[in-house]
Amino acid sequence: MDELLEKTIEECAAFSKKGKVASYIPELEKANPADFGIAILSSDGRFSRAGDCHKRFTIQSIVKPVLLLQALLDNGVEYVRAHVGVEATGKPFDAINYTEQSLLSDHINPMVNMGAIAMCTMIGGGSYEEKFRRLLDLTRRLAGNDSIELDERVYLSEKRTGNKNRALAYLLKTYNMIEDDVEEVLDCYFRACSIQVDCVDLAHIGFTLANHGRRMREEERIFPAEYASYVNAILMTCGMYDGSGDFAVKVGVPAKSGVGGGIMAVVPTRMGIGIFSPALDEKGNSIAGIRALETLSRKLYLSIF
Ligand code: GLN
Repeated sequence: MDELLEKTIEECAAFSKKGKVASYIPELEKANPADFGIAILSSDGRFSRAGDCHKRFTIQSIVKPVLLLQALLDNGVEYVRAHVGVEATGKPFDAINYTEQSLLSDHINPMVNMGAIAMCTMIGGGSYEEKFRRLLDLTRRLAGNDSIELDERVYLSEKRTGNKNRALAYLLKTYNMIEDDVEEVLDCYFRACSIQVDCVDLAHIGFTLANHGRRMREEERIFPAEYASYVNAILMTCGMYDGSGDFAVKVGVPAKSGVGGGIMAVVPTRMGIGIFSPALDEKGNSIAGIRALETLSRKLYLSIF
């Protein structure tokens, strides 16, 4: 398997030249477009990796499924479903998705920025400091890695420049979809996006979702199996934003991308996959990362369809 991953990196590396690292968050522009790593954790206990799989990057939107899990753990399915919809928007992740002078929960989903900002308010905790702590703790538990921390520079960079997210959050407030102080909610969202991970962490988090809430060889459930179904279904339809349909056809597994260049893929009951390659396509998805997943899906028969 390690050989297959190395070959996949070799074959797909050139695609990164067709993409660009994110620059709208200035700190992300420092990423090296040539970095490429893959890690896979399989249900038979095998762990495979290749390339820059220990290089750290910010989780960005891949925190959205973790946020959703935290919101579900703290509020249950009914409450979360009533406040954040599950329909694919078919629009970019930061789209201002409102129509006819109204904004309804059905216009958003947990995998776009508006939905994720709303979910920050649902994390249990007496302060936003505590809410973020709890989200970081859940990320660490899912990844089995206590040393996961915040990338302070990326956090400050996005906090300083994230005016589109500010606009989205103020719209949520205008239409009574969030009650709390907007800047506090945004601060939690920016911190969440700036959690630093590597491919191995993503493979572990993906595996826990593939394994319905249990980490490898652990009896204790981190979350109920029904939450895995909820999250994986939304990843399938919305995880790659307006590229989700194409990804479903070509790869066929639930997955989530982030503008830091990561992709986490969940192969239900079989494996978790973490990929890092920071050059992005025009939709904000890792361009070589998607190619690598296409190759792996073909060779390992990963598509669930
Ligand atoms: N922090 C990023 C933003 O809000 C996350 C977007 C992404 O990874 N697609 O713009």
